[in-house]
Amino acid sequence: MSCISCAKDIAKQMREIDKLLAKRYGKRVWRRRSNAIEVLMRTILSQQTNDEACLAAYSNLIGRFKCADEIMRAPVEEIESAIKVAGLSKQKARYIRSCLERILSDFGALSLDGLAKMDIQRAMSYLTSLPGVGFKTAACVLLFAFGMPVFPVDTHIHRIARRMGLVKHNASAVETQVHLDSIVPNEIKYQLHLNLIEHGRRVCKSQKPLCDSCIITRYCQRNL
Ligand code: SF4
Repeated sequence: MSCISCAKDIAKQMREIDKLLAKRYGKRVWRRRSNAIEVLMRTILSQQTNDEACLAAYSNLIGRFKCADEIMRAPVEEIESAIKVAGLSKQKARYIRSCLERILSDFGALSLDGLAKMDIQRAMSYLTSLPGVGFKTAACVLLFAFGMPVFPVDTHIHRIARRMGLVKHNASAVETQVHLDSIVPNEIKYQLHLNLIEHGRRVCKSQKPLCDSCIITRYCQRNL
C-alpha cells in the first residue's frame, strides 16, 4: 500500500538534496542546446565509455560528416572509423545508422520533433524500440532535447542511489531509473540529474567515495 505522507517525505528529501547539490555545483536551467538526433547519437556514443572519449568521438563524427543525412548514407566502416575512440565502434556505428534509417522511415524526415507531441510513455516506448537505445538513452533524449520530466540514470547516479539506500544494493540501472523517476519531483529532475553526476565524478567516486567531504552525507545510509 502506498503511503501519501511517505511520498511527501521522500519528495521533500529529494528537494533538500537537490538544493544542497545546486549550492555546491550550481543551478541548472534547461534550455534546448541540441536537437534530439544529436542527443541520441551522443548518448549512443557515451555507452560504456568515459566523457572525454565520447566527446572526441562525437567531434570526429560531426567533423567528418556534414549532417545526419550524410551519416545515414555513409558506409558503416566510415562511421566506425570516425567514432573509434569511443570504443565498441562497430556496434555503435551500426546502431547510429540503423536509428537514422528507422527515424527517416517512421517520421518521413531525419527529425525526432514528432516526439514532442507524444506523452512520455509513448515517446519512451518509441525510442526504446530503436536499435541500441535503452532506457537511459531514451530518457536522455526526452530530458535534454525536449525538457520532458524524466530522470535518466547513468553509472554515477546508479552508484550513488545504491550507496545512499534510495534503492536496494542489487537494483539494476533500469529498476533504479524507474524508482528515481517516481520519487524525484518533476521540477528538479533536470538539475538533480546533472548535479548528481557531478557529485559522482568529484565526491562519490566509484573506487573511493570521499564521504568526509560529502555535503549530502546526512541523507546517505552508507555511513549509518
Ligand atoms: S556519504 Fe559517501 S557514499 Fe554517501 S553520497 Fe556521500 S560520498 Fe557517496
